[in-house]
Amino acid sequence: MKPALSLSVATSALLLAACSPADISASRLDSSGSAGSETGGPPGAAQTNPLLADWATPYGAPPLDLIEDAHFLPAFASAIASHAAEIEAIASDPDAPTFDNTLLAMEMTGQDLGRISSIFFNLASSASNDQIRAIQREMSPRLAEHSASITLNPDLFARIDALYQQRDSLDLTAQQARLLETTHDDFIRAGAQLQGADRERFAALRSELASLYTRFAQNEQADRESWSMELSEADLTGLPDYIVSAAAGAAADRDRDGHVITLARSSVEPFLQASPNRDQRETAWRAWMQRGDNDNANDNKDTIAQILSARLELANLLGFETFAHYRTAGTMAGTPDAAMALMEQVWWPARDRALEEAADIEARIAEAGLDHELEPWDWRYYTQQVRAERFDLDESEVKAHLQLDNMIAAMFYVSGRLFDVSFHERTDIPTYHPDVRVWEMHNADGQVMGLFYGDFFARPGKRGGAWMSSFRAQNGQTGQIPLILNNCNYNKPADGEPALLSFTDAVTLFHEFGHGLHGLLSNTEYASLAGTSVDRDFVEFPAQIYEHWLSQPEVLERFALHHDTGEPMPAALLERILAAGTFNQGFATVEFLNSGFVDLEYHLNTNTDTIKIDTFENRILGKRDNLEDIPMRHRSTHFLHAFAGEGYASGYYSYLWAGVLDNDGFAAFEEAGDIFDPDLARKLLDSVYSAGDSLPAMDAYIGFRGREPNVEPLLHNRGFIKAEG
Ligand SMILES: [Zn+2]
Repeated sequence: MKPALSLSVATSALLLAACSPADISASRLDSSGSAGSETGGPPGAAQTNPLLADWATPYGAPPLDLIEDAHFLPAFASAIASHAAEIEAIASDPDAPTFDNTLLAMEMTGQDLGRISSIFFNLASSASNDQIRAIQREMSPRLAEHSASITLNPDLFARIDALYQQRDSLDLTAQQARLLETTHDDFIRAGAQLQGADRERFAALRSELASLYTRFAQNEQADRESWSMELSEADLTGLPDYIVSAAAGAAADRDRDGHVITLARSSVEPFLQASPNRDQRETAWRAWMQRGDNDNANDNKDTIAQILSARLELANLLGFETFAHYRTAGTMAGTPDAAMALMEQVWWPARDRALEEAADIEARIAEAGLDHELEPWDWRYYTQQVRAERFDLDESEVKAHLQLDNMIAAMFYVSGRLFDVSFHERTDIPTYHPDVRVWEMHNADGQVMGLFYGDFFARPGKRGGAWMSSFRAQNGQTGQIPLILNNCNYNKPADGEPALLSFTDAVTLFHEFGHGLHGLLSNTEYASLAGTSVDRDFVEFPAQIYEHWLSQPEVLERFALHHDTGEPMPAALLERILAAGTFNQGFATVEFLNSGFVDLEYHLNTNTDTIKIDTFENRILGKRDNLEDIPMRHRSTHFLHAFAGEGYASGYYSYLWAGVLDNDGFAAFEEAGDIFDPDLARKLLDSVYSAGDSLPAMDAYIGFRGREPNVEPLLHNRGFIKAEG
């Protein structure tokens, strides 16, 4: 059986995934926050500010019903001050450093700051408003400064370094040794070995970058939200019902009558697929591509130039040739060359395939008696027609079988079959929005192992895409269970209507839940090693391999039930969906790689002054004989992965890297002849889903697969090479 891989680039690439900027800022502070400069909160703050009080909630879940925006600034100030004091106590401890009085003690610091940050950054992503955006602008540099004051605390680093030098004689457990090694490395990468002026310059750059990342993301959001295109009654002709109702919903969100298309991917992409109005397609496509590049107050070109310059200087200070070298050191790929080599290896077969796809579309345009060229705003429209003709796939018919609630049940079912866990909804856990749902995850003995928050619908104030984040990581020292969130941006149906997903939406749901399980199943001794705190080019693996289970007949036959009749998806439709799996993968892979090459090449520059932002994309894409009708999946000025934080900066390739892993990994289950093979599932749990960062990524993969990964299954599953026999 062919795995469902086909769609993973298309979906994964648009996701901000586990390591979203918000998630990183929050989780990093759990373990390595630092001594800040601000004063504590007002007297009595703990009594009146729920962020600083004890939480009498189930499992210590955040009391989101009590928290108001005005609570954040005083709570941050107080928590930064107490964290600083805790760190100072460790740094100035007169006793010689030991694992317990230094590393373990650091693990236990910053509890308040960690929980305040994680709540705040989750709200900033999912339920933002002007006040939260203002707090974010104020706090980003202060948090960066606080973090830097820890990693640049010379007494603290001296203790860590002393332990690191004697690490072989300390009789540490494997996880203790790993924690020491990763902490030491984090400190060095954060400038701990720098002296004098270099040290001050490094801290200034970190703070400047934090502000630039916030500005980049806010510009993108403002530019995206400022645009909409009204559709007349005539324009609605020929559009499927779900697009019409989503367009009505988008208008209502803006207090307008009628129907509008917006630049949320969930609005504009289906429109580009379905609208026969070529002029409107062009208008929408151009607006979508131009986000952040409109020479207005939200323009991001200058922000990019400043980010690249600061990043290069920062990497050079640490002794790295470029920012790309800095970012890939210590990852699974290890070097920019290895990342580039993988992209090159996939580029030419993907490009060849995309040329075949373009020929199909051009034939279609000619058949329709039209004489225009194939342009970027045509690709999705005609692709949809070729897809419908070749696979007879009617998107409305597919969606009618993919109800959100059933797909949630399906993703829970798979986790039960693989990992022996079950999910039980609770309606009494506080949330930040009525649409958010909460489940307990139970193990086979009925013990509660974690809480799972699902926030599935798009709304104003929520950023685009889909991602996993947390309120709290699993903590082996305190015994606290993980509190994990998934966010998606599905269109919310009208009252009484079922929420229906496209197949791509359902893949996204499984993808984010794969990240979610990486957090929920975590079983490490230290929170700093828990869950998704792994290498960036490994973190997508648990998410992407999970996508494969969705397209298995065993799962779809059970859960893909028609919303009216309850009938399972007809076998013929299921077969067509699976057959369509490799369709348009040339386009999807080329679109992805365009962004991947540009991201890496930006960060391989040794002199950022010579980069011309407005021409850089074309110059880089031209180097590999690019196809002009397939643009970058994310153009620079709205490339959040690259410029709204560092999680995926010079690391967009990671999705492809993880693609190699997930195709090769799922092939193990296929080879075993059982997609729930218990022995493999156990190894996948032990070495990957529960292991967090307690071992190096390659060791984790080999622990599951028994060998290093192989690129062939990816090329095969995307239809770039033919099956052997
Ligand atoms: Zn992801």
